Amino acid sequence: MAPRSTQADGKAKKAMKAPKAKAKAKAKAKTVAKSAMKAPAKAKAPTVVRKAKVVTKSDDKETSLATAEAFMQSAAASALAGIRLGHGGPFGATIVRDGVIIAAAHNMVLHRKDPTGHAEMNAIQQACQALGSHDLSDCELFTTCEPCPMCWGAVQWARLCKVHIGVDRHTAAKYGFDDKVFYDEVDAKSGCYGLRRCGLIEDTSIGLEHTKTPVTKNMVEVYDGLLHEDIKELFTNPALNRTLRRRFGSQDGGKLAEAYKEVFVRHPESAPAPLLQGDQKNRSQHEAFMRHAIAAAEDGARRGASKEREPFGVVVVKDGTVISEAHNSVLDTRDATATAEVNAIRKATTKLRSHSLEGCDLYTTTHPDLMSLGAILWSRISRVYCGVSQQIAAQCGFEEGIIHFQDLLQEQGRRATTVVEGVAIKECEAVFQEWSDRKLPSSCLINGSNGVIY
Ligand SMILES: [Zn+2]
Repeated sequence: MAPRSTQADGKAKKAMKAPKAKAKAKAKAKTVAKSAMKAPAKAKAPTVVRKAKVVTKSDDKETSLATAEAFMQSAAASALAGIRLGHGGPFGATIVRDGVIIAAAHNMVLHRKDPTGHAEMNAIQQACQALGSHDLSDCELFTTCEPCPMCWGAVQWARLCKVHIGVDRHTAAKYGFDDKVFYDEVDAKSGCYGLRRCGLIEDTSIGLEHTKTPVTKNMVEVYDGLLHEDIKELFTNPALNRTLRRRFGSQDGGKLAEAYKEVFVRHPESAPAPLLQGDQKNRSQHEAFMRHAIAAAEDGARRGASKEREPFGVVVVKDGTVISEAHNSVLDTRDATATAEVNAIRKATTKLRSHSLEGCDLYTTTHPDLMSLGAILWSRISRVYCGVSQQIAAQCGFEEGIIHFQDLLQEQGRRATTVVEGVAIKECEAVFQEWSDRKLPSSCLINGSNGVIY
């Protein structure tokens, strides 16, 4: 989870309440407002009346499509360079602001030994650095392939207003990059978050038809309620959680807090995740690791690194030893991807010099948000132990984490973000073609090849 600004508060609240049509209208209004802002100021009393150049709608459309294709080609070019350098999978991403490329990146998972080093994540990090802000709401993302759940989460944390996509996940699956298991896992885990599951699952390896096959593969086990009361105290105590005080401190804030308690509840049909089922004997050890995670969160707050004392702390454990600890540093490092989970994973993979954390456990004060759960899945962490649910976090002023899940599960990431699909498809597919035409060294494969090799 990440801290948010006052601006984000308003946005999230609106996004939560606004029905789809309204959200679309809002996005349109935003675009209109933006172009109005960029337009040169009109003279108050024009003395010369010039005939305005007539631009038809189709001309506009063609120009913007051609522009989008040009920017997408830069993303594809970066992806090709990445393949030729052996940096990682065939994916590229570019971020554009006011018609200027401010970041271009490709997949760096193998080169950096960082499972979170997807093209979109790298481009978002770069753009945040370039602008000195974790807020990219006036930027557009061009990505050669449909983002995975982690990257969708990152798009939302960075508040990117528009995403242009080259090929979709079905084309990627043709070349052996099947994100389906990741989407399935997010779907399967959505029950833990009190959300309805989508139900029918698309099997991209067979076709586009819906099936009723249940998800049987568990990539990560999520356990709930470890030191629940201690962590709840961190969230509900306004002296500790400054976000809570700022958001709900006033008289009106009280009403808002009540509304949040009604909006953010677990769905009655969704059972909470099991509380350390069958592992009660190791409870004291689990609690010791969770205390370490709480200490990491408190340490961040004390050092002023998490400015509003956000109670998000994480430790990664391997063979009974803590190998990394981290707190949220989105504001401190001005990096929209720097949640406690992602920071802890990056530190752990650096320490182990491998992009795989197979067999490691992660302890987090809160259920991971969408991007962080995606990062956990990519890192192959086996078990996640959580303190409080996303609902508790939302009721205490941190609702974006759960909204990101809702957005992906119910609106396919389209609620807050305008999505343009099929931009420069030919160039984007050519990247996959080059990838599949070359031989991949066996050292790059994880457990041989399971179809997910990046
Ligand atoms: Zn991704």
